[in-house]
Amino acid sequence: MKKINFYLFSGLVFFVSCTKVSTTNLEDVTTQQPVTELRQGRTCGAMDVLQNNLAQDPALRKRMDDIEKFTARIMTNPDAARLLPDGTIEIPVVVNVLYKLAAENISTVQIQSQIDVLNEDYKALNTDYNNTPSIFQSVRSGNVGVSFVLDKIIRQSTSKKSWSTNDAMKKSSVGGINPTNPTTELNLWSCNLGGGILGYAQFPGGSTATDGVVIDNNAFGRTGTVTAPYNKGRTATHEVGHWMNLRHIWGDATCGSDLVNDTPTHDAANFGCPTYPHLSTCTGTPVEMTMNYMDYTDDPCMYMFSAGQKTRMQAVFATGGPRAGFRVL
Ligand SMILES: [Zn+2]
Repeated sequence: MKKINFYLFSGLVFFVSCTKVSTTNLEDVTTQQPVTELRQGRTCGAMDVLQNNLAQDPALRKRMDDIEKFTARIMTNPDAARLLPDGTIEIPVVVNVLYKLAAENISTVQIQSQIDVLNEDYKALNTDYNNTPSIFQSVRSGNVGVSFVLDKIIRQSTSKKSWSTNDAMKKSSVGGINPTNPTTELNLWSCNLGGGILGYAQFPGGSTATDGVVIDNNAFGRTGTVTAPYNKGRTATHEVGHWMNLRHIWGDATCGSDLVNDTPTHDAANFGCPTYPHLSTCTGTPVEMTMNYMDYTDDPCMYMFSAGQKTRMQAVFATGGPRAGFRVL
């Protein structure tokens, strides 16, 4: 069990590296330079991007701390914010496709397959949900209560060979596509992401001008140009989890906290397809929940959220929450 700490956000180094995760006193987090991620298993750029955003926007830390306090309050007493009348939120999705090569102009079928994966995974309708080990079945999320609906696809050719985590793909001024209605729609970008990054998301509290999730076109959906072992659409499941305020399950630090009470403490990210049970080296050596979407395992080896993660995600849509603009069915 992990202790939720409102101020943890200010107390961690938000470095994500595949080989090394460090913890230090973070008074000067905004002066830290991003860590280049190495090509080893899954790589997600969300925390590096957050670190850069914190450096560029001094008010962001306060906004995120406020969201953290709000979230903790909702998690303690969900009724306090009059959470979702029927527990369901509809999330219209705009998919922005940037392509240089014809193959990068992914098909509508491939795009719809990603929407389908999101709906299955977030409603716990994915067939591998039943693979959840018995010790975690009592803390499975069940239906998270969000539905994804494809609203619009925007396609744009580009002379750019690949894109980085600097958000250029989200800015028409530098050849990208601006987000559409970011306070009421989830924007996804499909493009050729360089540096071995599979995807990245912006956490709640960031600028609306760059809000959304970026997915490499070879990890987008589960058909067409997807490449194993990232061919089940789980990169988006993971990144949308960040977009709904979930942290990596290892808390981006050695034996760190993901701000959720019912997930075991992980000593670090897990890659590939770990043999069950994989024991943590943290206090109590708990069995790690390597099959959680917020770990770094391969697509076929992640298939569940926890109930605590569900509550944390729902809090962003609650009255007063950072994504309250999304309509309630
Ligand atoms: Zn991530």
